[in-house]
Amino acid sequence: MHAYDELIRALTPARSVILLSHLRPDGDAYGSALGLGLCLRALGKAVRIFNRDGLSQTYRFLPHAELIERTPARLPEADLIIALDTSTEERLGLVDSLKPVVNVSVDWNIDHHVSNTGYGRRQFITPSQPATAGIILDLITTANWPLMTDIATALYVGLLTDTGSFHHRGTNAHTFDQAARLVAAGADPTALARHCYQNISPTSFKLQQRAWTNWQFEGALAHTTLTAQDFTDCGALPEDTEGIVETGLTVSGTELSAFFELKADGGLKVSLRSKDAINVSDLAVTFGGGGHPGAAGIGFKQDGAANRQLVLDKLRKAL
Ligand code: AMP
Ligand code: MN
Ligand code: MN
Repeated sequence: MHAYDELIRALTPARSVILLSHLRPDGDAYGSALGLGLCLRALGKAVRIFNRDGLSQTYRFLPHAELIERTPARLPEADLIIALDTSTEERLGLVDSLKPVVNVSVDWNIDHHVSNTGYGRRQFITPSQPATAGIILDLITTANWPLMTDIATALYVGLLTDTGSFHHRGTNAHTFDQAARLVAAGADPTALARHCYQNISPTSFKLQQRAWTNWQFEGALAHTTLTAQDFTDCGALPEDTEGIVETGLTVSGTELSAFFELKADGGLKVSLRSKDAINVSDLAVTFGGGGHPGAAGIGFKQDGAANRQLVLDKLRKAL
């Protein structure tokens, strides 16, 4: 476990730490940041947790979720800036707005994406971990730092959601050992599954109905598309798409599932999932996106409809 020594040596003397994670945050972005943040606070450090998109409704249940703040235009002073679960600097959401956040240089880039570009001054990239929350747990265990119930809960949510409830490729004996350590430390698997999977809003359900009616199947490829109008009609939020792309893979014989979101500003968001045949991270990287072999995404700022066709053609060829 020597891999963690340098990180532990960097964190130990720091008195103030800023934690950042990716835009359109998921359970791992929030869970890894909150888990590490609460642990560093317990060690007596001043911790700020920033996310470009703030806190989404789905994850309000997380203990001390109020610590997650929307990233300000100027970051406060801190001894260390750490990015978590974020494969590219752009996905921190610091530079793509009209008011770019200034004075940011990421000291430590802690992540598990194979496609991580290595943008930090120091990197801690472990693609064998199915969640960044797992990296944080192993860090805490190695350093013998506190693992109270609230910390275990945040990390369990990261592990649960990023492994697709412990079934995505990469889930192994070590993952179940991590889950066991978190449950032993107080994480409640039943309550947390309820929060993560039986807690969607009526507007999200409406949006999912639209997505269901739009599914198209072409051999091993399944794809569905939603437009900005669909979101308006359903009164849905950007975060209400969670779970849509996964439904394409529930059909037997489907190897690859794609979900396209055509934006009002002409942009396009693509979510890709695959069973085993195709590495969707490699596919996404060719369009400037990234992710994991079984789950990846792409963002296009313009020409949404045309780029949707380009991606579809590429997917058809890949199969
Ligand atoms: P999503 O389909 O948004 O749930 O994302 C699936 C995976 O792909 C996650 O691990 C994301 O971090 C990654 N991902 C999604 N969109 C992008 C993007 N535009 N660039 C790089 N990675 C992405
Ligand atoms: Mn994530
Ligand atoms: Mn992750």
